[in-house]
Amino acid sequence: MATILKGKPVADKISEGLIKEVEELKAKGVTPKLAIVRVGASPDDLAYERGALGRSKKVGIEAEVKELPEDITQDDFIKELKAVNDDPAVNGILVFRPFPKQLDEEVIKYVIAPEKDIDCFSPINAAKLVEDDETGFAPCTAVSVIEILKHYEVPLEGKNAVILGRSMVIGKPAALLLLRENATVTICHSRTQDIAGVSKAGDILVAAIGRAKFATKDFVKEGGAVIDVGINVDDEGNLVGDVDFEGAEGVAGMITPVPGGVGSVTTSILARHVIRACRAQNNL
Ligand code: NAP
Repeated sequence: MATILKGKPVADKISEGLIKEVEELKAKGVTPKLAIVRVGASPDDLAYERGALGRSKKVGIEAEVKELPEDITQDDFIKELKAVNDDPAVNGILVFRPFPKQLDEEVIKYVIAPEKDIDCFSPINAAKLVEDDETGFAPCTAVSVIEILKHYEVPLEGKNAVILGRSMVIGKPAALLLLRENATVTICHSRTQDIAGVSKAGDILVAAIGRAKFATKDFVKEGGAVIDVGINVDDEGNLVGDVDFEGAEGVAGMITPVPGGVGSVTTSILARHVIRACRAQNNL
């Protein structure tokens, strides 16, 4: 049976360090602040927002939510985002996506201030990720994948890492971050042939496709590490990952649960990014 890689110990360890950092910053008269920009009130956004606000409180950073109406125009949205960009008290901005259809993400992503863009919405941060420029901010979920692997001391250098999914929020950034750790990376997507066979070669398998229990035990290498990023609701209404946990845990050496895995770590990375942004903006 595989070892279960829980997210909470990882998040707790990161938070411990952040609490100390924030105390030091406060002693210098600076309090990091997160601003969340939310359009409408989707249950997914609200759930993540609760987690982000709770984590902020725990580590001692300030947080505010700018809630905007579902039917906000593009011009008004841009005005609101620019106001947050220009607010000197705000160090980090999280913009919930996807947007309602009247808002054009391709335009808006150029508006968010890159130095406050703590979840890699801006193309500047995406470019910094590609260039291994660590002054940028990679997407929090992708960073969480690496943090879990490192926390549990999963060897990465020279290992085969297979990523299921090529989105800009998880698949591609997780691949680049694993490459930065000197893993040999393969990215699978909807056109990949023999996806189970390709996946099975992965010493590390990262699943981020948004299909409940898609990766069966046949995708998993004997003794490999499986990181399940997926969050789906199955036919019985249960929260499940992209990996068939019951099947995979009999083959894998290590596996993250859903819930309680990657999702538990993300807000601690968000808080870390806010603090890093705050330091950079204050030359501290
Ligand atoms: P996304 O933007 O929809 O991207 C899905 C990716 O999976 C695409 O690259 C797509 O391939 C690929 N894909 C879809 N169906 C496939 C199939 N049958 N075979 C192979 N590849 C397939 O999704 P996302 O935003 O990356 O999210 C992925 C999952 O992570 C979702 O379950 C989401 O809820 C979850 N998530 C979790 C967290 C967390 O904190 N744990 C945070 C965000 C998202 P193509 O490019 O070829 O279409």
